[in-house]
Amino acid sequence: MIALITGASRGIGAATALLCAERGYDLALNFARDEASANALAEQVRAMGRRALLVQADVSQEAEVLRMFAAVDAELGPLTALVNNASVVAPGARLEQMTAERMRRVFEVNVLGSFLCAREAVRRMSRSNGGTGGAIVNVSSRAAQLGSPGVYVDYAASKGAIDTFTVGLAREVAGEGIRVNGVRPGIIDTEIHAGGGLGAQLPGIVAGLPMARMGKAQEVAQAIVWLLSDAASYTTGALLDVSGGR
Ligand code: NAP
Repeated sequence: MIALITGASRGIGAATALLCAERGYDLALNFARDEASANALAEQVRAMGRRALLVQADVSQEAEVLRMFAAVDAELGPLTALVNNASVVAPGARLEQMTAERMRRVFEVNVLGSFLCAREAVRRMSRSNGGTGGAIVNVSSRAAQLGSPGVYVDYAASKGAIDTFTVGLAREVAGEGIRVNGVRPGIIDTEIHAGGGLGAQLPGIVAGLPMARMGKAQEVAQAIVWLLSDAASYTTGALLDVSGGR
């Protein structure tokens, strides 16, 4: 079993990598900038007896995605699993304050990046292309349904696109032996919140959550790894909320 996880240098991606390694996957670990964290994760995976290939690539850049998949082909072998996890948020803002540049970046990383990686995975996994099937998990967000007014409607809408993509692609490739599912995390304790979004409102929002706590990256990883596994063999086109009831 060979899995590529985008945005694996920290947070949900890193937790998913460690759980995949525990379950016997060899791993391609993608990151954009944080090579030190990605490298430390790769060492942990190797210490667990699995292969780990580090691949720097900005998923919004087609040439970099092509180079990343070529490296996986050459150094690990046929891909069986993809986790489209890499994503960005921008500082909390109302729509009238958002620049086109910000909106373009959010959509290019979160939507175009996931499309490009899924396309390359399907080209390799699809039975009609000589592959043996596989599984894709897209990491969406509860924001896709909540809309995130006043904070980041651009990010929320990008995740809405991911939900629609998940349902459509699942039906498109079901006959090719590929399952496609999504997870919609709620508020998870990762560094993403330092980069923007909820800011000073975060503690108050967390206190008001049904479970009165943030989720852990490992709790989302459990759902992702289940959806990748044969235990989910009849599950495709599903969107699983991992949001503590939010
Ligand atoms: P995080 O801690 O901010 O990590 C984001 C990861 O994405 C990093 O590894 C980062 O790599 C990578 N990345 C960013 N831009 C990239 C690009 N252009 N190309 C490749 N990699 C890129 O985020 P997280 O909280 O773990 O979130 C993971 C996923 O869960 C995202 O899809 C996010 O939208 C979703 N989610 C998170 C929450 C939450 O509360 N945490 C809630 C709902 C959904 P570098 O650091 O190397 O740049």
